[in-house]
Amino acid sequence: MSTTEENALKRELLSQIKESGAGWTFVGDWPQKATYYKANGEAMPNLPADPRSMQRYLRRGFTLAPPQKQDLMCGCGAGPFKAKIGLVSHRRTHKEKEA
Ligand SMILES: [Zn+2]
Repeated sequence: MSTTEENALKRELLSQIKESGAGWTFVGDWPQKATYYKANGEAMPNLPADPRSMQRYLRRGFTLAPPQKQDLMCGCGAGPFKAKIGLVSHRRTHKEKEA
């Protein structure tokens, strides 16, 4: 078998693998750094963004997008609160009224 035939065969096999869905392509430009956000909206730029680090940061309550104002709204319509602690203490007043 000549080199040209071998290469043609390899290309054919590669296309069959891709069509079957068994193949994968290398993700070469995975972002190495990301900006995480604290619950109070403070940005933490240039932190590691590999899957393991990202899992750790997200578990600690960091988010990949800044928290939205509506996140700090109460169901009764009060807010938005500047910090989560404000919303938490406001919700406590609901419980006191119910009791
Ligand atoms: Zn409320």
